[in-house]
Amino acid sequence: MAEKEDFYKVLGIERNASDAEIKKKYRSLAMKYHPDRNADNPQAAEVKFKQIKEAYEILSDPKKRAAYDQFGHAGVDPSMGGRPGGFSGGAEGFSDIFGDVFGDIFGGGGGRGRGGAQRGSDLRYNLEITLEEAVAGTEQKIRIPVLVSCGECAGTGAKKGSSPVICTTCHGHGQVRMQQGFFSVQQTCPTCRGTGKQIKDPCAKCYGQGRVQETKTLSAKIPAGVDTGDRIRLAGEGEAGERGAPAGDLYIEIHVKEHEIFTRDGANLYCEVPISFVTACLGDEIPVPTLDGKVMLKIPPETQTGKLFRLRGKGVKPVRGGAVGDLMCKVLVETPVNLTKEQKALVEKLGESLTGGGKHHSPQEHSFLDGVKNFFDKLTG
Ligand SMILES: [Zn+2]
Ligand SMILES: [Zn+2]
Repeated sequence: MAEKEDFYKVLGIERNASDAEIKKKYRSLAMKYHPDRNADNPQAAEVKFKQIKEAYEILSDPKKRAAYDQFGHAGVDPSMGGRPGGFSGGAEGFSDIFGDVFGDIFGGGGGRGRGGAQRGSDLRYNLEITLEEAVAGTEQKIRIPVLVSCGECAGTGAKKGSSPVICTTCHGHGQVRMQQGFFSVQQTCPTCRGTGKQIKDPCAKCYGQGRVQETKTLSAKIPAGVDTGDRIRLAGEGEAGERGAPAGDLYIEIHVKEHEIFTRDGANLYCEVPISFVTACLGDEIPVPTLDGKVMLKIPPETQTGKLFRLRGKGVKPVRGGAVGDLMCKVLVETPVNLTKEQKALVEKLGESLTGGGKHHSPQEHSFLDGVKNFFDKLTG
């Protein structure tokens, strides 16, 4: 079973979309995919329509939206806990950093352990961290609601002192044969729901489920160099399995917050540094920020606006290995503002001097004007 598509993607909106945006987008999509309007392929339209409707129902409800943002589909879909492999199939396509380390093979629809009891669901936890934390690595305490093995009955579901007995309907097979007309059909035993065991005297704390809901606090080590979209798997930290079956895994999905100075692209960081017109003309050394403090950047004389300066090794060390990236500083030359009369006069004087000398002082303007001249020359033949 494939993981459900992200609700934000279904509606084609950003994660921070406002309620009004969500409503607007929902309306236009619902119109577009309404089965009545898609006579050529009504089935496909209906599937899409239902997806859109489901996404809207969750995201338009502030409580449900918050639960979804935090825990993903498991946070809003009560049926996620109860289906074979319900959530585990979603492991396809994960960019799982530790996949190689643990060497796990993701089981597609499996999940049924010994005795037919079901493996616990995988959970997703969306963790927001700062760029600094993403680059340096961090340890975060996270609180997650999970189904854990019931302490009262040690996960068996049977009242203390008793134990489950072999199911009398299927005699422990978990399957029964049903006659339907001419056919004999094998079905999951309705009495024990396939487990082959029956609980005569259910545990009072977990009502025979063998699991109870608890909030668990975990300490998650986030390795240095992670980026938005990376997932870290904590094996066995998902929901406990039914009646002693193995627990699911917890996936921590990283979301790096926007930084006020730096943007990141893979291993490289980018920032914009405004410099004065005078610095750009005459050159200077100016302080620029890096993630580990200020460094001095040499601005050569006659620097143009938009020039990129590369500070080697001041970027990010990627989590999957490879060279440390660079910090790219883009200088922006500022035009002076709030000029006094005197300053305007000086600029005028400078202007006269720059145009009077017979030398070109504006390389881009010069080549631009040449280009314009060529363009017109061609036009007029
Ligand atoms: Zn119990
Ligand atoms: Zn049975």
